[in-house]
Amino acid sequence: MGFWWRPLSVLAGVLLVALMLWAGAGAVAALMFLTGIQAVVMLRRLWQEYRLSRWLEHPDEVTPPNAMGTWGDIFYRLEKLQRRQRASRSELTNALEQFEHAATAVPDGMVILNGNDQIDWCNPASRKYMGLDCERDRGQFIRYLLRQAHFLEFLDAADYSRRLVCKSPLNREVTLSIQLVPFGEGKKLLVARDITELERVDAIRRDFIANVSHELRTPLTVVGGFVETLADAPTLPASESRRYFDLMLDNTRRMQHLLDDLLTLSRLESADHNLKDEVVSVPELARVLAAEAESLSGGRHRISLDITCDANVRGSLQEIRSALGNLVSNAVRYTPEDGDITLAWSLRNGEGVFAVVDTGEGIAAEHIPRLTERFYRVDRSRSRETGGTGLGLAIVKHVLTRHGAHLEIRSTPGKGSTFAAVFPESRLIIAQPSATVIPFPALEQAAG
Ligand code: ADP
Repeated sequence: MGFWWRPLSVLAGVLLVALMLWAGAGAVAALMFLTGIQAVVMLRRLWQEYRLSRWLEHPDEVTPPNAMGTWGDIFYRLEKLQRRQRASRSELTNALEQFEHAATAVPDGMVILNGNDQIDWCNPASRKYMGLDCERDRGQFIRYLLRQAHFLEFLDAADYSRRLVCKSPLNREVTLSIQLVPFGEGKKLLVARDITELERVDAIRRDFIANVSHELRTPLTVVGGFVETLADAPTLPASESRRYFDLMLDNTRRMQHLLDDLLTLSRLESADHNLKDEVVSVPELARVLAAEAESLSGGRHRISLDITCDANVRGSLQEIRSALGNLVSNAVRYTPEDGDITLAWSLRNGEGVFAVVDTGEGIAAEHIPRLTERFYRVDRSRSRETGGTGLGLAIVKHVLTRHGAHLEIRSTPGKGSTFAAVFPESRLIIAQPSATVIPFPALEQAAG
């Protein structure tokens, strides 16, 4: 009723006046009055229609018309509608802008395809992985831009549960996982994710499992073989069975050693394994390691110490001891009889350098960058003969990295090698007599 009461009451008023005129001045006066009113109404209507059409033509520039009565109501409602539309348009624009920003920030390549597999839109990452350009390639058929046979097969199969793993058409080093997601009416979202790193980690994991299995299989086969022989021949001479037991013990120790190294590596790698903050006296540690090297060498090498600084290192005694001990035992194991081995501790440009110098067989340059990889050995049988697991230098690298230190390797085949653990200045404690240095319980035993 809100809309009707005003025009109806005006109409009633006009009719009342016309009736009064009719009664007082006759029908002609009443008719003239009604005609005059109708002309005014028509003119007003024309004027308001003109204002309305002008406003509708430029709704954002022209201010909405203002009027009394029904026209005022109409204008007010139209203006309200326009305001609501404006608000939802700006919400939509904001949402679109946000989507565009998010799509630009997404590291995966994203392409929207229409029902004919033409490109509707793509994000900047799709340029990096697939060489697509949103402006240039809009409307292009994707099959003409990405022509790899397995991609075309994948596109035609339209099996949305599958992912395609393939090389990037721009860079053969990059591996992509491509997925198609259907949406809307016949549209598809193509998502290309860079899985190079995942693939690399997966390959390392597979290699690692293969290596561990291989390392364990040989000693297990040996032990198994001897157990069978002993079981089948219970009356074997004592000397013979003694020899078998010794070999079994050797191989069991080898497996034990391998498992110990694997556990050490896994402990070093676990994120919640915090680094201890102990003061490690490297000069004292060098003396302990030299004594251990003497005992490992059994007099086959000349072992000497060259300590020119008394700096200590802040870190985990157990880890540093195991890393430096690995370098020393490698020097003994890979240096032929009568060779020289020197353990040196010195300062170089503020850094602490613990170097193990040997006159052993040396290592060809192409092997050096790979020595710290797990199970990498220059000579597999030589490593096994000397009780190596192939994990020693991987452990050294981990320990040093945890201490902000690094390993330097220099070697000349036939002449010898230098393996140096270089500790940064921030890890060194120089000439601090008050510092509590962790004692080495093994020192007296090893030296004794
Ligand atoms: P392993 O248990 O086989 O010694 P490491 O990780 O300690 O494993 O060493 C990896 C490889 O590096 C060894 O197999 C050996 O070929 C080489 N290597 C390490 N130290 C020396 C050295 N002092 N002289 C010559 N070769 C060495």
